[in-house]
Amino acid sequence: MSTATPTLCERPVDTWRGMPAAQQPQWPESRALSAATGDLRRSPPLVIASECDLLRQRLAAVARGEAFLLQGGDCAETFDTVTTATIRTKLTILLQMAVVLTYAASMPVVKVGRIAGQYAKPRSKPTETRSGITLPAYRGDGVNGLPFTALARTPDPRRLVRMYQASAITLNLLRALTTGGYADLHKVHAWNQDFVAASPAGKRYETLAGEIDRALAFMNACGVDPRELHRVEFFTSHEGLVLDYEAALTRVDSWTGLPYATSGHLLWIGERTRDLDGAHVEYFSRIRNPIAVKLGPTVTADTALALIDKLDPAREPGRLTFIIRMGADLVREKLPDLVRRVTDSGALITWVCDPMHANTFAAPSGHKTRRLGAVLDEVRGFFEVHRALGTHPGGIHVELTGDDVTECVGGSTEIAFDDLGSRYESACDPRLNRSQSLDLAFLVAEMLRE
Ligand code: PEP
Ligand code: MN
Repeated sequence: MSTATPTLCERPVDTWRGMPAAQQPQWPESRALSAATGDLRRSPPLVIASECDLLRQRLAAVARGEAFLLQGGDCAETFDTVTTATIRTKLTILLQMAVVLTYAASMPVVKVGRIAGQYAKPRSKPTETRSGITLPAYRGDGVNGLPFTALARTPDPRRLVRMYQASAITLNLLRALTTGGYADLHKVHAWNQDFVAASPAGKRYETLAGEIDRALAFMNACGVDPRELHRVEFFTSHEGLVLDYEAALTRVDSWTGLPYATSGHLLWIGERTRDLDGAHVEYFSRIRNPIAVKLGPTVTADTALALIDKLDPAREPGRLTFIIRMGADLVREKLPDLVRRVTDSGALITWVCDPMHANTFAAPSGHKTRRLGAVLDEVRGFFEVHRALGTHPGGIHVELTGDDVTECVGGSTEIAFDDLGSRYESACDPRLNRSQSLDLAFLVAEMLRE
């Protein structure tokens, strides 16, 4: 590819430069940054425009109440965990949850991973102090390193290239697993292996898998074997936080002439970077991907309407998703006005519940944690509000892992405060483990059936 092409590609989305951009890394010097972004501009896209368009259509079905979105994965992916086992078990738990939801609700489930690009984190404080030493906060492996040393914590633009490579490796395996037989519905039992099988949620899943097996055997006996049962449609997403990275991977689609972020299918703007006059909202307004915005308890209906005007001026179903993260204690109070005002404006938004980020607290041991009970309660509140208003509770956005970690308390395997130290591996926020994720899926399935 010639070096002239990228300039062309980037021009339509360049308007964010010079605008206030929150939560950007303080790169030590600009030469290394130019070298890294230059590499990225010359690299092939990770996803292509038509895949993003397909996801936009799927999300439009969610907005219309015809499908449900399951979006999940790590709070922060790390370069060290780009391994077969970690990627495969994350996909597996998403597949298991999707089966539970699809079967219970008889509704298509749109599957989107917080994966293959979730390497940059906004932080509440720019620095971290330990034993009197203050260093820059960890901002995700795409920016700096987790170890508490000056060297690791110094932002390094070369990490942007590693982020691209780690995303590409992850996506490659995901594409193979989702289309090459692993995600075949006939494998519904095989996904329920190791520690999760013995958990109460795992046993409940086994019963459901048995019913699906019988349905498949029946269909097979009737001579019906649709292609859809042998593969799954799976999309990637991450927070579009580091604008140097996203801009360098923005490409103009040769068919439509429109710019797309090609780092993932769906990008979202975080709660801390959704300033209406900020660089993130500006950049996102220029790309053609389906996009999402996180909305916390301080958001007003006026702000939500202004975000719609800026990000979805054509009022196109599937273009804009609002990921609501109010907290279990506030969702019933804060969400109704928002949904009512947005609905009255004529916009058809995809509403999704993130029951994780406003339910975080410090355990007595100091570990950042979340109670599964609060997570479930926020989802319940989200459904109650939508049911009362006649709108569609479109989906859930969760932080989870396929591993048997002890980061969130509660669940049918009853993880207690004292257990948190035994396997706490998250580089950032606490994630649901596999059996807690299944607990959540069964609860949501029941609510979808009601
Ligand atoms: C996150 O999704 O990890 C995150 C930081 O969320 P929020 O922007 O909602 O705080
Ligand atoms: Mn998080």
